[in-house]
Amino acid sequence: MAKKSNADVNQLLRELCDIDAKIFVASKRKKEIERATADYEAQLEIQRTKLQEAEDAAKEGNLQQVLEEQRLKDEQIAMVQRRKQLTTVGGAKGAKLMERELDTATKTIQAMEERAMKAIEDADELEEKLATLRDAVSEIEQHHNAHVDETKDELGELNSTLEKDTKERDKVLNGLDDRLQRLYNRVAGRYPGDAVAFASKGSCRSCYRSLPPQTYNQVLAGNLLIQCPGCQRLIVASPEALAEVSAA
Ligand SMILES: [Zn+2]
Repeated sequence: MAKKSNADVNQLLRELCDIDAKIFVASKRKKEIERATADYEAQLEIQRTKLQEAEDAAKEGNLQQVLEEQRLKDEQIAMVQRRKQLTTVGGAKGAKLMERELDTATKTIQAMEERAMKAIEDADELEEKLATLRDAVSEIEQHHNAHVDETKDELGELNSTLEKDTKERDKVLNGLDDRLQRLYNRVAGRYPGDAVAFASKGSCRSCYRSLPPQTYNQVLAGNLLIQCPGCQRLIVASPEALAEVSAA
């Protein structure tokens, strides 16, 4: 491969910078979209866990309710049995035993009814909580799905643009010698998509710092590997500056 002229390399640097600028913008947008998706997913995860916990609790609550109702029925049956037995005793003794049995049974049944009622109330409360949580989950799901739908095409385009630009970037970068590649990559790490600064009228057009005359002359002469003493960007002569030089 023939050695590239300084002007060619300057051109490559500027192309590289333009490609990196496109990559930077596309990557930023892609990250924004992906971050929003991840946020919805994190919210969904939290709400779904809450819902699962509430569903488990509701199942337990329902079981409790069934158990309390069964116990109540069992006790009612047992009570009828005991009374039948007591009627066979007869006389004053039987009447006294019956009176005591009635008293105990009333208290037991009352307590059991209260527990059964409480179990029903708890279950109702949980059902309400479940409904609220289901609404929350479905609302986030809707937002999440809408976001994914809305950004699907854009994301596809961003991915293909990024793929294409990254290939192009590698191609252009490989046109530079190793030293310049390393320097460019280092500066591009600090200024993504903005690593190359134009110089004209003796100063850097990115940070507006005046360049030492010797440095500026080197830039005009097409020397590479020169960084701005102010912002550290790679400096290339602006088209106007080059025009002035060739006119002079
Ligand atoms: Zn500068």
